[in-house]
Amino acid sequence: MKTLKDLEILVRQLEPGLKERDAIMDKTTRYVNDYIARLPEMPSYQQGNLDMLESLAITEDGKSFDDLLNILRQEVDSVGINTASGAHLGFIPGGGLWVSAVADMLAAATNRYSGVAYSCPGAVKIENQLIEWLRSIVGYPVGAHGNLTSGGSIASLIAVKTARDFHKINSSNVRQSVIYFSEQMHHCMLKAFSITGVHEAVSRPIPMNESFQMDVDALETQIESDIAEGLNPFMIVGSAGTTDTGAIDPLDRIADLCEKHDIWFHVDGAYGGFFVLVDELKEKFRGIERSDSVVLDPHKTLVLPYGSGAVLIRHRDRLTDAFSQSASYMKDTYAVEDLNPADVSPELTKHFRGLRMWLPLHLHGVKPFRANLQEKYLLCQYLHRSLTSMGLETGPEPQLSVAIFRFPGDNDVNQRLLEAILSDGRVFLTSTTIKEKLWIRCAVVSHRSHMAEVQLALETIRESLESLGLKAGLSGA
Ligand SMILES: *Cc1c(COP(=O)(O)O)cnc(C)c1O
Repeated sequence: MKTLKDLEILVRQLEPGLKERDAIMDKTTRYVNDYIARLPEMPSYQQGNLDMLESLAITEDGKSFDDLLNILRQEVDSVGINTASGAHLGFIPGGGLWVSAVADMLAAATNRYSGVAYSCPGAVKIENQLIEWLRSIVGYPVGAHGNLTSGGSIASLIAVKTARDFHKINSSNVRQSVIYFSEQMHHCMLKAFSITGVHEAVSRPIPMNESFQMDVDALETQIESDIAEGLNPFMIVGSAGTTDTGAIDPLDRIADLCEKHDIWFHVDGAYGGFFVLVDELKEKFRGIERSDSVVLDPHKTLVLPYGSGAVLIRHRDRLTDAFSQSASYMKDTYAVEDLNPADVSPELTKHFRGLRMWLPLHLHGVKPFRANLQEKYLLCQYLHRSLTSMGLETGPEPQLSVAIFRFPGDNDVNQRLLEAILSDGRVFLTSTTIKEKLWIRCAVVSHRSHMAEVQLALETIRESLESLGLKAGLSGA
C-alpha cells in the first residue's frame, strides 16, 4: 500500500493541475501569437547552432516549461527553413493553419480513438465525411473511398498496394508486368514500388514534351510494343501537378489508354490536386475523375500543418480487400458496421487527424481555401511574367503555382545565384535539375504568401543578380 501511494504521487505528475495547465496554455498561446506576429519580419531561411539541444539529456526529473520553450524558440523555430513564412517559396511550401493547431490540441487532449467506429463513431464519421468531400471535388462516383494519411507518401503506398492486389501482381508475374510514368514522377512512388515489391516490374519512364508533361503518343507506342512482346501493362502514374514545375499530365488521354488496356491509373495530385477547387483551372484536370486512385496532400495546397495526406480509391472494395484484416482481440469492434480507417490503411491506432481538416473547413468555409489557390495561381503567373521581362530564361507558362527560371548561362552561375538568394535569406527558393539544366524554382502555396512576398522574391532575385555582377537578357534589365 505504501509503495502504491508513493507511485501514485509520482504518476499524478503526468496530469498537471488546473492552475499549471492554465499557466502552460497561457505561455503557449503567447508563444504562438508572438511567432505569428513576427513571421513577416523573420528571415525565411536562417542558419544557427543546436548547442542547447545537443547537451539536453532526458533525465529522471523534469525541467521547467519556460526553459524548454526557450530551447524551442532558439534552436527549433529559428533555425532552418521557416516553413510557416509566406516568403517560403521553395520545394512545395506548406502553411500551418492556426485553427488546425487548435484542432490538434482538442484531438490530443480528448484522445478519442479514431481507428474504428465502435470506439468513436463521431471521429470516424468526421473522417469519412471529409473523404466524401474529397471524393466530390475530385469527381469520383459515390462508392469511392479513401483514407486520411500522414502525408502523400503513405497515401501513395496505399494506392500502389491496392493496385497491386487488385491486379494480382505477385512473384510469379511481376517481371512481366509494366509500370509507366513520366520522368517527373515523385520519388515517393519509387518507395511505394519497392515496399510493395512491384519495383521488380519493368519500368518505363516516358519522355516529356516541352511543357514537362508526359508525351502520351510515346506512352501509347510503348504500351503497344510491350503488349506485342507479351508483357502485361499494369499501372500508369500520371501527375496532377509535378513537384518540379507543377505540370499536369494529359489525364484524360491517359485514362483512355488505361480503359482500353485495363491498366490501373494512379494520379499523383499531392501538390496540385486541390487546384480543382478553382473554376478557371478545373479543365486542366479533366480525366482525373476517370482514374483508379488519386493522392491529395492537405498539408500542401490546403495549407494544413504537416502530417495530413489523403488517398482516394475509385472502387471501395478494392481498398478494403487490400487492407482489411481481422483479429480475435478486435472482435467487439465488429458490432459496429462502418468504414473503419483501420480497414483501409496500414494503421490501426491513429491520430485523429481528421479534426485538423474538419475544424477549419467548417469554421472558415471552403471559399477562403479556393481563394487562396486562385491567388497563388495568379501570383505565379505574375512572377513568371516578371522574371521573363527581367531577361531571365523561364520555363513554360506555369500551369499551377510553380515558376522556374535560370540566368541564361551555365549551371555553375545559377548555383551561385541560388546561393546568393539563400544567403540573403529574405525569401527561400530551391533548385532542381531537368534534362541536365539547373533551374531555380518558386512555388507559391501558403495562405501567408501574397503580392508583397512575391515582390520581395523579385527584389531579392534582382539584388542577387547585381551582387554577382550578372546582367540578364537582351532587354538590358
Ligand atoms: C510532396 C509530394 C509527394 C509526397 O508527399 P509527402 O506528403 O511529402 O509524403 C508526392 N507527390 C508530389 C507531386 C509531391 O509534391
